[in-house]
Amino acid sequence: MLGHSTDPRRLIAPVLNRIIQRFFGGSDADSKNVAEPVLIPRPDHPISRKDVSKNALKVLYRLRDNGYDAYLVGGCIRDLVLEHSPKDFDVATNASPDQIKKAFRNCRLIGRRFRLAHIVFGREIIEVATFRSGHSDAGKNDAHTDAQGRILRDNVYGTLEEDVLRRDFTINALYYNIEDFSIVDFVGGMRDLNDGVIRLLGDPETRYREDAVRALRAARFAAKLDFTLHPATAEPLPRVGEWLAQIPAARLFEEVLKLFQSGHAIRSLEELQRYDLLRFLFASLDKRLKDEHLLSTTLTTLALKNTDLRVAQEKPITPAFLYAALLWPDIQIRAAEIGAQENLPPVPAIHAAADEVLAEQVRQTALPKRFSMPAREIWAMQPRLEQYTGKRALKNLEHPRFRAGYDLLVLRANAGEPLKEMADWWTEIQESPEVAEQMAMARQKNAARTRPPRRRRGGRRRGPRQDTPQD
Ligand code: ATP
Ligand code: MG
Repeated sequence: MLGHSTDPRRLIAPVLNRIIQRFFGGSDADSKNVAEPVLIPRPDHPISRKDVSKNALKVLYRLRDNGYDAYLVGGCIRDLVLEHSPKDFDVATNASPDQIKKAFRNCRLIGRRFRLAHIVFGREIIEVATFRSGHSDAGKNDAHTDAQGRILRDNVYGTLEEDVLRRDFTINALYYNIEDFSIVDFVGGMRDLNDGVIRLLGDPETRYREDAVRALRAARFAAKLDFTLHPATAEPLPRVGEWLAQIPAARLFEEVLKLFQSGHAIRSLEELQRYDLLRFLFASLDKRLKDEHLLSTTLTTLALKNTDLRVAQEKPITPAFLYAALLWPDIQIRAAEIGAQENLPPVPAIHAAADEVLAEQVRQTALPKRFSMPAREIWAMQPRLEQYTGKRALKNLEHPRFRAGYDLLVLRANAGEPLKEMADWWTEIQESPEVAEQMAMARQKNAARTRPPRRRRGGRRRGPRQDTPQD
């Protein structure tokens, strides 16, 4: 795999500069969105076949041997040029889904509206898409979009040139041709990769109207790659809110995972705040951060740093813990109010607060039940861990959510809540041999009780697992 040792842009800059001089001439920024193909031959770019998944190569060769054009495309090319390890490899071709299916025994066609082919190699899936036409600069009156300019129809097959223009950013619109190992660059993607620029293809306002998730993607790539948004790409962002509100909450949840669970959560938060986009994902958190609510600010930073560290160490992470930490101050405030109003003890008050806070949150990002249930348990564990004396306290050690509950307690203590003594007590108790044994037995019991989640058919392995307990 490729190394991350130093800033890859610095390493590859001389190579890219040579390419740019040779193929693009000077630095005329406006020529980048003009669809003029530039072929960058193998000796002039850094992508080597040894860095490409063997299975992706097999797919490319098989398509080519069947007489079709086949390219690697999108994020994998961007990442390979930057000397990052791609998460997955996507292929674009002029073969139709049925033709792809005929060429591969291990092919599954997915999607009703737009059919994609998944070529399955054990745990690795190579996604193969037929060239599509979808992008339109015509805006409102175009047949592809509704009255607001939102994309309705992107299920029309097209040419390579059309496929380029439906993509979001120049850096995501590079194609690697298996025929001659060249990179095909219609839009100045190589130059933007070299300059560290995120630039939407086409007219930015139209492209955000078509699909407002592109605003979140812009922030995400800026965070992930440490790039800057081109001014024209950043300019419409204060106006995307209205369009982003139309996006299904389930899709926004997927974006939250990519923003906050891919190893660059802290940078993602910074970019979302820079462009004032956080309010569309976590309205109440955004408000608390803007109000400089101290616990929220520190807890959020610690939780995101902790997640980044766990991703770097390849430890399991779960959205349940992420949401439990980000929403904790809301839960705490509401539980105190409800407890006082209705004279409820702490745990039922937390459950009542969780009902409200989760109902509000899932309207923005639809956290599935399999994550909101454990988040509730993590919250409900807090008052139990705060009353730490006696045998009943030790019973908590056997709870399946003990470890995540304890992790939140430690985060809260580190964020300034007066819980340090309790957190230390729980840390020490876990280190005593008898307790360690008790916990190991409880873990075994819990593991036997909970069956592993079934793998979703058609699901694609992407990034670290999101459904394992954070312990
Ligand atoms: P990642 O490393 O996060 O997977 P990626 O660029 O591969 O980044 P994907 O979501 O896997 O992102 O999408 C693959 C490609 O599909 C992108 O590189 C881009 O060309 C295109 N694409 C994805 N989402 C959009 C969108 N909303 N609008 C236009 N093009 C998109
Ligand atoms: Mg991808």
